[in-house]
Amino acid sequence: MKQFNIRSLVRKNILELKPYTSFRDQNEFDNPVLLDANESPFGEYNRYPDSTHKEIRQKLSQLKNISAEQIALGNGSDELIDLIIRIFCEPKEDSIMMMDPSFAMYAFYASINENKVIKLPLNEDFEIEKQEFLSIINKVQPKVFFLCSPNNPTGNSTEDIEFFLQNFSGIVVADEAYIEFSNKKSSLELLEKYPNLIVLQTFSKAWGIAGARVGIAYASKEIIQLMYTVKAPYNVNALSQQFVLKSLENLDQFRQNLDNINAEKEWLIDEFKAIESITKIYPTDANFFLIEFNDAENIYNKLLDKEVLTSKRTPYIPNCLRINIGNREENIQLIQALKN
Ligand SMILES: *Cc1c(COP(=O)(O)O)cnc(C)c1O
Repeated sequence: MKQFNIRSLVRKNILELKPYTSFRDQNEFDNPVLLDANESPFGEYNRYPDSTHKEIRQKLSQLKNISAEQIALGNGSDELIDLIIRIFCEPKEDSIMMMDPSFAMYAFYASINENKVIKLPLNEDFEIEKQEFLSIINKVQPKVFFLCSPNNPTGNSTEDIEFFLQNFSGIVVADEAYIEFSNKKSSLELLEKYPNLIVLQTFSKAWGIAGARVGIAYASKEIIQLMYTVKAPYNVNALSQQFVLKSLENLDQFRQNLDNINAEKEWLIDEFKAIESITKIYPTDANFFLIEFNDAENIYNKLLDKEVLTSKRTPYIPNCLRINIGNREENIQLIQALKN
């Protein structure tokens, strides 16, 4: 197995940064008089939020059985993806590897940072070919590999993630935005063994609070410290932190919603059987389907006419639309529109 010195992968200017720490968040006080941050003394949300997200990290630490020091929160996973790129990838020089097709935001943040993106083409079942992976990393040495599992927009999961961790000499980011919908194991349990692993999860999908914009990174203490050094100090606002805490206290609701979505998934699979324009439904571990139609462009427009919005993947994935699982009412509207 490769030996890892994380610091040797980090950009020099980042290593030299001193973290901005809010004094108030680093210390315990009983009943402080807060005259240190030029806030207003009036109002309900007059105070800056906790820049270290202590309470949420503590709760997640218990829930996932991981040290709070190995957890970072971002303003959506989006911010965390951007942070990872900025921590490890030198503009213009370094390269980022991603699966193709996969989540577009990796390439978006890479291009803002002027990083080159190397695409790892997936096979016809949307799986990574290990030989292809090895041949690419032998030619170029990407610093960061975004491994999205379950993958968006394909819906399938990658098996044997340890193979990629063992063979990659940079950082592997396992993006698990859809992991709660899957019965595959999370990569969280690999964190102890692989210091080059970052696992991303989010409150936007199964947790149902996309509006709060909160994403989670799990990694080594060292990497998490770097994230807290580079992020904007008050990246997760007070209202969002409240929403997250409320969600974490209501696990029954979370499970109920998840069961509901899984039941709707089965219902939809059954209903799709009667839709003649569908030529293939790809297997999915997520809360969406990648579906091939005989004429996806036409179906997409017909659905749009009825104000049923789906995600057009054709022509990039020929004749495919990505359609997510809604509630029964929404799913009925989808099926009715497809039947016409
Ligand atoms: C939806 C999604 C996310 C979540 O992004 P947020 O910024 O947390 O809302 C992350 N990764 C993938 C692959 C996604 O599809």
